[in-house]
Amino acid sequence: MLKLFDLSGKVAIVTGCSTGLGQGMAVALAQAGADIVGVNTSAPTATATAVTALGRGFHAIRANLADTSCVQPVVEEACQAFGRLDILVNNAGIIRREDSLNFSEKDWDDVVNLNLKAVFFLSQAAARRFIARDSPGKIINIASMLSFQGGIRVPSYTASKSGVVGLTRLLACEWASKRINVNAIAPGYMATDNTAALRADEQRNAEILGRIPANRWGLPEDLAGPVVFLASPASDYVNGYTLAVDGGWLAR
Ligand code: NAD
Repeated sequence: MLKLFDLSGKVAIVTGCSTGLGQGMAVALAQAGADIVGVNTSAPTATATAVTALGRGFHAIRANLADTSCVQPVVEEACQAFGRLDILVNNAGIIRREDSLNFSEKDWDDVVNLNLKAVFFLSQAAARRFIARDSPGKIINIASMLSFQGGIRVPSYTASKSGVVGLTRLLACEWASKRINVNAIAPGYMATDNTAALRADEQRNAEILGRIPANRWGLPEDLAGPVVFLASPASDYVNGYTLAVDGGWLAR
């Protein structure tokens, strides 16, 4: 049974793995046997150390994924790094907070370009590779609670993450017959840099914690099992689904 979750010999791209959830998922995929290609704007030093300590390969690519002209070269370099590509985790994402009445076009474009446009074009480039090699592929997009709820003061984030869930379904419908699984993980409220401002605000922190049935913020390690499942043969008949990993937030 455990063989179903084995990623030995597989290669995974994880975008935005220098910190937070991406780092947790890169390490988890390496623990399951995969070599990792990390795509970041900064050096993913701690992630590289953790992955190589497990005896797995780590290749770092420096790129700003908000600029889609880098997508093609990134996927080509990733394929060359270990001679193959099996898994793409579209994790890199940012958030901007401002009242919608004052929200700027820049804060809209910066977020949507990275959180949604790059997800589509990276998925397209990876899928073309899987199909050209006639091999199965796994694409895992990182959604959010704001893929299901409105939120406040984060219009471009809510729009992008709601789009990620729709895109996940659409790509699954187009590519399931080609042995490419496209699914998403919707993390709940997780303790990372992304949520530092929320956790620092005593009132918001208490409101959020009070609504999480598990009664704690999530951790990067909480995504380990779900990401390995969705990257492995164990999920071969799971297509277009968004798995909430939220301590029960959406069940409330
Ligand atoms: P984080 O800020 O710790 O990590 C974001 C990562 O993206 C970093 O590695 C950063 O270097 C990288 N990145 C940022 N801009 C980039 C760019 N232009 N090009 C390439 N890489 C870039 O945040 P996190 O909390 O770990 O978030 C990871 C993902 O999870 C994001 O998509 C985020 O929206 C999503 N998410 C987070 C939470 C949470 O509570 N933390 C909840 C739901 C969803």
